Amino acid sequence: MRFCPKCNSRMRIKRVKKDGKVVPMYVCVKCGYMEPADKTETLKVVENEGEAIKVVSDDIRTLPTAEVVCPNCGYNKAVWWMAQTRSGDEPPTQFFRCLRCGYTWRQYA
Ligand SMILES: [Zn+2]
Ligand SMILES: [Zn+2]
Repeated sequence: MRFCPKCNSRMRIKRVKKDGKVVPMYVCVKCGYMEPADKTETLKVVENEGEAIKVVSDDIRTLPTAEVVCPNCGYNKAVWWMAQTRSGDEPPTQFFRCLRCGYTWRQYA
């Protein structure tokens, strides 16, 4: 959760067109104040069970959340995204990242 530095209202993340690109921005719901959201925490490549997991370099707060149980801490909410792990012939793998402990794991179909 982020609050507007001008009026202290809640800010929302919106995708805003800027310089020909669509970028995530925090937008104040009350006064319309905006600031870029792309300098916030980004996901990095993590090692998991010996395999490097490629993850999106997007703001995790813009990712959808799902109700899944974290295998590390048991928390039931995580963000998820799809990523190509090996060759382009294989279907993309679904990854989850726990919103409490940050543990990242992949979905085994
Ligand atoms: Zn404001
Ligand atoms: Zn967890």
